[in-house]
Amino acid sequence: MRAEAIIDLSAIKHNVALLKKSADTNLLAVVKADAYGHGLIPVAQAALSAGAHYLGVALLEEAVALREAGISAPILAWLVQPGSDFSRAIELNIDIAAASLKALSEISAASRAAGKKARVHLEVDTGMTRGGFLSEWNQIDAEHVRDIEVVGIFSHFARADEPDEAQNVMQLQRFTEMATTLESFGFTNIIKHLSNSAATLRNHAAAFDMVRAGIAMYGLSPDIQTLGSSSSLNLRPAMQLRAALYLVKDVPAGTPVGYGATEKTTRDTRLGVVTMGYADGIPRIARAAGVWFNGARAPIIGRVSMDQFVVDLGPDAKAQSGDWVTIFGNGSHGEYTADDWGAAASTINYEIVTRIGPRVPRIYSAHVY
Ligand SMILES: *Cc1c(COP(=O)(O)O)cnc(C)c1O
Repeated sequence: MRAEAIIDLSAIKHNVALLKKSADTNLLAVVKADAYGHGLIPVAQAALSAGAHYLGVALLEEAVALREAGISAPILAWLVQPGSDFSRAIELNIDIAAASLKALSEISAASRAAGKKARVHLEVDTGMTRGGFLSEWNQIDAEHVRDIEVVGIFSHFARADEPDEAQNVMQLQRFTEMATTLESFGFTNIIKHLSNSAATLRNHAAAFDMVRAGIAMYGLSPDIQTLGSSSSLNLRPAMQLRAALYLVKDVPAGTPVGYGATEKTTRDTRLGVVTMGYADGIPRIARAAGVWFNGARAPIIGRVSMDQFVVDLGPDAKAQSGDWVTIFGNGSHGEYTADDWGAAASTINYEIVTRIGPRVPRIYSAHVY
């Protein structure tokens, strides 16, 4: 094998337990996008075994995959656009979100055809200005939801990772008002949910009946600047990314490396060729990152290619072709983290883990160093 993402499911379970405790309410484990790159089914099972009440995904296909794997827990899919196969969602008992009158009328029609009411969470826009009812909200009346089962109402924070921002207070107020409107139609037993990971950790007033935790369940901080690092939050990063050194070679000072010869060695040194590239999710833009080998960091030198990149192991490195390096891990040994790679690529840890490509096998075990 040339590369692998080692997923520690015990870290996921630890994080789920910690988030449940922090929220003091039910937890929806967000497993969209192949569980943020960690593997949909194993993560879903681990989260449920650690006490998650619901699973949440973006797409109906993702929810169907969970059902086909035999998972019977409640599942919510929240990006199910008009024209989708709502009858499949009804058949498989998948909760779906609705954010427009058009979606509601299609879901109602599918429910009448199936002779079974779809389970629907109404998504409302409280200030994020992305998903959710906004201008159409005033038109909703009990008639629009007569043929469906309204299970919940939810919204999403735009700035939960900046806990002191006034927008959080405004969104919370707006959410409460919109939920009250819905309750005035006679739906008294609906699940209200608003919090993402950052709000679960920092905004306890927003916990309501359920929180939706994604990134923190994977052990990563929603924002290390404003909320602190994984370790300061007591979260355990679940993914370690490793790759083999395809080749090790000794070169003199002044040797140009890679496409465009953008960098030259500054000393006589030993280089390692790492068998992952941008096709596997290693960001081509990342410069100030690298790998960890035998107790030391080895920085990237030259451009990242499609399937490989080169690191400067240093003149005294004991590395040989075939040795393994850690691209990122939980940082406890000194290795780079997904946060470091995010910073090096001017992006966020979310993007680093979700873009690890399908060529990289996910292995479920404790981390290897
Ligand atoms: C992705 C997503 C979440 C999870 O956000 P995190 O910041 O990863 O916790 C929660 N709710 C919705 C609607 C989402 O799309």
